[in-house]
Amino acid sequence: MTRIIVIEDEPAMLSGLCDNLEFEGYEVLSAQRGDDGLKLMKSNASDLIILDVMLPGLSGFDVLKQARASGVNTPVILLTAKGEELDKVRGLELGADDYITKPFSLRELLARIKAILRRTSAPNSGGHGTIHIGKLTVCFDTFEASENNKPVKLSHKEFEILQHLYQRSNQIVTRDELLDNVWGLDYQPSSRTVDNFIVRLRQKVDTKDSVHIITVHGFGYKLIL
Ligand code: CA
Repeated sequence: MTRIIVIEDEPAMLSGLCDNLEFEGYEVLSAQRGDDGLKLMKSNASDLIILDVMLPGLSGFDVLKQARASGVNTPVILLTAKGEELDKVRGLELGADDYITKPFSLRELLARIKAILRRTSAPNSGGHGTIHIGKLTVCFDTFEASENNKPVKLSHKEFEILQHLYQRSNQIVTRDELLDNVWGLDYQPSSRTVDNFIVRLRQKVDTKDSVHIITVHGFGYKLIL
């Protein structure tokens, strides 16, 4: 599912954007402050970011600058206010992909979003079967994973564990269930082995600000999406 991060402090504008993007079939994550938005984009892979320039906490420019410096390559559409001509140039220099001036029509924004997604979606990823889990972008069909467009190595077992957790996301998955589904009945390693795999997966999926694979003590694990 295509995921869009929206960072905008005006509540009416934010909820309008989120509702309409969700209606269009996008998954939406949002923040109302620049600093929170930066954390959100660092800890969650996404396909596109809509970033307001005037934000509390950290300006949209600073968010963009710091995001690019830390390797977030996701395309960004800046929201600028009327008359901020200089800002547009600065935004593009800092690495924005496009900008749109408020007030704008929803139709125009959606057209820009689609144009950017068409331009940036990798031809072989096709968008289908590609999902975002934490900072990781994963395709279970091709056993490929990446972070900020850079390949991340996952073993076959790691893929299978992640896929099983994903299929049962937001539910508790016991160690026995993982052992049965991933290792099968013929060869069952100790549940300690499962824990070790989970530790490695966490390093690839989670950041300190955003934890997706949680331990449910006495039961097993849960993938929170
Ligand atoms: Ca604003």
